[in-house]
Amino acid sequence: MDLEQLWQSTLGEMEVQLSRANFATWLKNSRLVDKKDGTFYVALPNNFAKEWVENKYQKNILGIIRNFDDSAKKLEFMVAGRGIDTEAKKPTKSSLNKLDGEIDLEFKIDPETNLNPKYTLQSFVVGPSNELAFAAASSIVGEIGVKYNPFFVYGGVGLGKTHLIQAIGNEIKLRYHNKIKPRYVSSEKFTSDVVWGIRNKRMEDMKKRYRDVDVLIIDDIQFIGGKEKTEEEFFHTFNALYESNKQIIISSDRPPQSIPTLEERLRSRFEGGLIADIVYPEYEMRVAILKSKLQEANKKLNDAVIDMIAKKVKKNIRELEGILKKILFYQEKKQIEVTEKIAEEIIEKSAQLLQKRVSDNQILKAVAEFFNISTEVLSSHNRRKEVVEPRQIAMYLLRDISELSYPYIGEKLGKDHTTAIHSYEKINQEINRNPSLNQKILSIKELIYKS
Ligand code: ADP
Ligand code: MG
Repeated sequence: MDLEQLWQSTLGEMEVQLSRANFATWLKNSRLVDKKDGTFYVALPNNFAKEWVENKYQKNILGIIRNFDDSAKKLEFMVAGRGIDTEAKKPTKSSLNKLDGEIDLEFKIDPETNLNPKYTLQSFVVGPSNELAFAAASSIVGEIGVKYNPFFVYGGVGLGKTHLIQAIGNEIKLRYHNKIKPRYVSSEKFTSDVVWGIRNKRMEDMKKRYRDVDVLIIDDIQFIGGKEKTEEEFFHTFNALYESNKQIIISSDRPPQSIPTLEERLRSRFEGGLIADIVYPEYEMRVAILKSKLQEANKKLNDAVIDMIAKKVKKNIRELEGILKKILFYQEKKQIEVTEKIAEEIIEKSAQLLQKRVSDNQILKAVAEFFNISTEVLSSHNRRKEVVEPRQIAMYLLRDISELSYPYIGEKLGKDHTTAIHSYEKINQEINRNPSLNQKILSIKELIYKS
């Protein structure tokens, strides 16, 4: 067996062990380049993949290679650049999740469970930014209601919370052949069901509907904070399910302790389970996600273009997907290969579209609302920590979104222009290092664009 055959056989085994997305992400562009004195040299396309495979799959791979060649003693991993790009030449037939937008219609939301079948664990790319959340999600499927109950996952907008929690439901449906009933609801839906129950004097029906499930998945719980009757009802539903060992899965854009209006007793219930966060993926994982989406859609893009998208699109995965769709659409419509230059133009254009005009006050209001402080205090002389950070963020956003001048921003918040510059630069730098700050900003932006 030559090296190539040996590696293909090894990959064949690995493919069975890993989910499709993980296999495609981490191992697709790998190669066995050499063997010497029992050491087998595996080349991976980038450092990120190297570290990941080295840490996660080394043992498995070595075990498999040994079955084929018992001289194998250890593995050495290395990075080999574009030279070894062995990108699958033949696109695979299966394209579960086409990127054309309209194809989304193929997926029918299951009226029974409210789940959208397009969200699967297989199509969820795993990396350092979501590893814990994914691991918890996978293990819940095997031990429903026993382990990690409730499971609370939080993270900024567009980072995959809905995908992950729906995927748990879909996997459960599949694995238990509908014997276990999951049900997915947004908190808005939950709220409107409560309102419906009250208005029509049919609270009992509403209660029964929710208590009849085995796995309750509730998305964006931060929106029920402050709605008394809904919180009350959710609390009782939660307890009823929890006491009968049913699984509860919750998502939010922030951790329980940062939902200011959430009732204490609910908060402590949430904190009694497992809390996992999802943060914004690093560059390498963004590349991995783009590649996985391309593969699912059975489409191709030049590596340099993928690199450009991963470098430029920094907001979240939803935006990453959106841009990718746009670029593919362009490529198809014009029947030309998209170059870096074209890609850059498309990215810039859509950024401009996103920056639809918002007023200064909308920005300040959103910041104040997010931090649960008044807009007045933002422009006061108060120097307490709880105010300084929101104020800096407000200055940052006035610059980032509205591109206002520093003197104007300073004046708006009762400071001079140097403070405005300092605030903008501080936040702008920290955003890259501090995922939780990044999340705060994304959530505030969402508030702004919602208003
Ligand atoms: P959130 O609920 O956190 O706002 P979503 O779950 O709606 O985010 O994710 C936004 C988009 O990004 C979805 O289309 C989702 O499929 C995709 N996505 C997010 N995370 C991943 C991931 N790890 N792998 C593949 N796709 C992802
Ligand atoms: Mg969501």
